[in-house]
Amino acid sequence: MANNYFKEYPNKDGFFKEYGGAFIPPVLETEMEKITDAYYAISKSHKFISELRSIRKHYQGRPTPVYFCNRLSEKYGGRIYLKREDLNHTGAHKLNHCMGEALLAKYLGKKKLIAETGAGQHGVALATAAAYFGLECEIHMGEVDIIKEHPNVIRMKILGATVVPVSHGLKTLKEAVDSAFEAYLKDPLNTMYCIGSVVGPHPFPMMVRDFQRIVGIEAREQFFEMTGELPDKVVACVGGGSNAMGIFSAFLDDAECALYGVEPGGTSLKYGEHAATITLGKPGIIHGFKCYLLQDEKGEPGAVYSVASGLDYPGVGPEHSMLKDLKKVNYSTINDQEAIDAFYEISRLEGVIPALESAHAVAYAFKLAQEFPKTSILVNLSGRGDKDIDFVIDKYGLPEDKK
Ligand SMILES: *Cc1c(COP(=O)(O)O)cnc(C)c1O
Repeated sequence: MANNYFKEYPNKDGFFKEYGGAFIPPVLETEMEKITDAYYAISKSHKFISELRSIRKHYQGRPTPVYFCNRLSEKYGGRIYLKREDLNHTGAHKLNHCMGEALLAKYLGKKKLIAETGAGQHGVALATAAAYFGLECEIHMGEVDIIKEHPNVIRMKILGATVVPVSHGLKTLKEAVDSAFEAYLKDPLNTMYCIGSVVGPHPFPMMVRDFQRIVGIEAREQFFEMTGELPDKVVACVGGGSNAMGIFSAFLDDAECALYGVEPGGTSLKYGEHAATITLGKPGIIHGFKCYLLQDEKGEPGAVYSVASGLDYPGVGPEHSMLKDLKKVNYSTINDQEAIDAFYEISRLEGVIPALESAHAVAYAFKLAQEFPKTSILVNLSGRGDKDIDFVIDKYGLPEDKK
């Protein structure tokens, strides 16, 4: 699969089988074609590759480690390992594609980066990249998320970005994407729209995946070096799906590695109370691409919820949509409470406070470890939880205070 896989998917029009593509107005289509052509040319140039490699090593602190969780493995069974993207500069995997997108913007002579953000992690990563390259940065964010993710809002401002509050609809990620798109359309020549995940019109799902592939490439090599074998199971949370594609992409060809994508089950699997897009959605179109989609009764993108702001998106990457149909990846859900329990478990047994998004993957790894006590499990710990601590304490309290 692998050798041809990355050449075949997406095809030249940006399709992963029936998913993906670019369902966008003509002005935007021209811009996307320019970005696509530039990406194909520039991303293969020696100069671009060596500059990105140097940034990853000297600025981001890559490679991030793979770590064996002694105490968690003892308690839950199995052998649980973490790919520590929480130790990537800015505390999550998102800087991997932001530095790539911003570097591309620089090569294209753009002056300004525009993006949406949910948990604020993408905004912080992009504001960081903008500061590094000396570009302007404008981040659109739902008002609900602005309150919930206050520390990241402050971080973006300190980094010199402008934060634009979005006050319509549910005031979360989906509305923020709409707003950022609108702003981008006003001046596509001088700005670069930097999507925060493997979503949006072609070429973004491909570009973001390619920039995230470093996670899987490193992890596969590191895991093999540590253990002399490949992991039996690889687990990652799926919001848009970028951290999951990053790690899965290295194992697609390894029949012995089972891949697990974990979606947010929210408070229940009733409409509006979760964001389990692949598990419960149906094919549809959102933000210029086709994917599994949670829809309302009119077929419009539906209401979503998750305790993890970075996971509450009604769509999902087109590549995940294809991998689901091909049965290459198993998708299931973890609910809010399971994620919160895992958040405390890994904090207390390993000294690693995870992002609430990543806690979904950790919770699923516990289930796998209990079910398959001899198995090795590699979890992509997509980010650190500093951004979530106030929210978790306010809403859930400490475990011992409940008793
Ligand atoms: C944004 C975010 C996610 C979800 O995004 P994906 O594109 O699905 O990876 C997961 N974990 C963290 C820490 C995030 O910041």
